[in-house]
Amino acid sequence: MSTAVTLKTRDGGSTALSPEHLDGLRAKLRGAVCLPGDPGYDQARTLWNAMIDRKPAVTVRALGASDVIHAVRFAREHGLLLAVRGGGHNIAGNAVCDGGLQLDLSLMRSVRVDPVAKTARVEPGAILGDVDKETQAFGLAVPLGVNSTTGISGLTLGGGFGWLSRKYGLTIDNLLSVDLVTANGALVHASDKENHDLFWAVRGGGGNFGVVTSFEFRLHAIGTELLTGVIIHPLAKAKEILTGYRRVVSQAPDDLAVWFVMRKAPPLPFLPAEHHGTDVLVLALCWSGDIDAGRGPVGAIQGLGKPLAEIIGPMPFVAWQQLLDPLLTPGFRNYWKSQSFTELSDGAIDTLIDAAKRIPSAESEIAFAQVGGAINRVPAGATAYPHRNLQFVLNEHTRWSEPAKDKECIA
Ligand SMILES: Cc1cc2nc3c(=O)[nH]c(=O)nc-3n(C[C@H](O)[C@H](O)[C@H](O)COP(=O)(O)OP(=O)(O)OC[C@H]3O[C@@H](n4cnc5c(N)ncnc54)[C@H](O)[C@@H]3O)c2cc1C
Repeated sequence: MSTAVTLKTRDGGSTALSPEHLDGLRAKLRGAVCLPGDPGYDQARTLWNAMIDRKPAVTVRALGASDVIHAVRFAREHGLLLAVRGGGHNIAGNAVCDGGLQLDLSLMRSVRVDPVAKTARVEPGAILGDVDKETQAFGLAVPLGVNSTTGISGLTLGGGFGWLSRKYGLTIDNLLSVDLVTANGALVHASDKENHDLFWAVRGGGGNFGVVTSFEFRLHAIGTELLTGVIIHPLAKAKEILTGYRRVVSQAPDDLAVWFVMRKAPPLPFLPAEHHGTDVLVLALCWSGDIDAGRGPVGAIQGLGKPLAEIIGPMPFVAWQQLLDPLLTPGFRNYWKSQSFTELSDGAIDTLIDAAKRIPSAESEIAFAQVGGAINRVPAGATAYPHRNLQFVLNEHTRWSEPAKDKECIA
């Protein structure tokens, strides 16, 4: 490389860095410094949401904490605009910046489980499937999200909820400590005992307090099979089913989490072909306690209405955690919103059903997650995630492929 590279700075200006500057950085790293066209550059800048197409001037593909320290110090020294990438799932695309320095952590994916202490050390580029596979080798788990390709970093820093959260809390409620590189390029340890305020902030406060290079989680013995499944109803029956759903889940033990989705029916093998592409309400459930003890509570959900199809039974937890992956593949255009609910009112049910009839693409869905339980037993001020009174979280997952449909789908 022989010419200077111009990078955007944090103050909105730009700076030109000589080849010597970049060679100096390169010499300190275990990982790579990539410029546009270099192997790995496009891989690092391409995010899950195809709406995001930004081109950093330089990408550092870190392989360890020392690379993170050097990249942060380099950005600080030159006042560079810096973006940090974990799993790349953030819909707004915060993991990549135009014209600045991207620090890509996605190659740092190691997970080390201590089955005796029931803890796991996880590197920041790990995806949820990495963590599930390693912990499940010992019948252990930490509550994570429902799509195995989501990054552990952004999910944890934002709170993190999934099938196990009603029983064991949010992902951050099971975070024991982090190693983190602060904006001045120093690596610090934060836990209940050390840098307590920083530990408070990273549990729900997002990525702005530093770059986490290692997460330490508490694990739970859940076994390797849970009672899980999905039940599909026609959307036309949604009012009746959701009224029953509301009654059943309000009395359900924390072992049970039942979410629902409204969308066009995907071509699932257990759903008769004549229903593919029709408007449906899908109930998805996970019982995280003893399987036999779950038959009653799960049966109460199965007893609602007359489904088009259902598939319920014990399933390997790792497989269950990947079940939704085919519906959440990267490369689509996405515009998402979420709202929180302390109850599911009649008005909310009517509004959701009405919106579901107007879903603009076959890939879009209205997803309604049941939370509460252990999440709500943590005091609101104990972490930076304050929403400890919710029962449900709504996500509008608008997904489509043609740029010509952007306006319609965003609206
Ligand atoms: C398909 C899909 C399914 C999802 N399912 C769930 C779910 O079930 N439950 C749930 O709680 N959430 C879920 N989410 C939301 C998800 O948790 C967030 O989008 C999260 O930000 C993704 O983290 P990431 O590391 O993949 O993202 P990235 O885009 O890489 O990072 C997200 C943010 O964190 C910052 N960041 C990344 N790594 C670090 C680090 N090591 N240190 C400091 N800052 C960092 C980034 O700069 C960015 O601002 C889902 C998202 C998608 C797209």
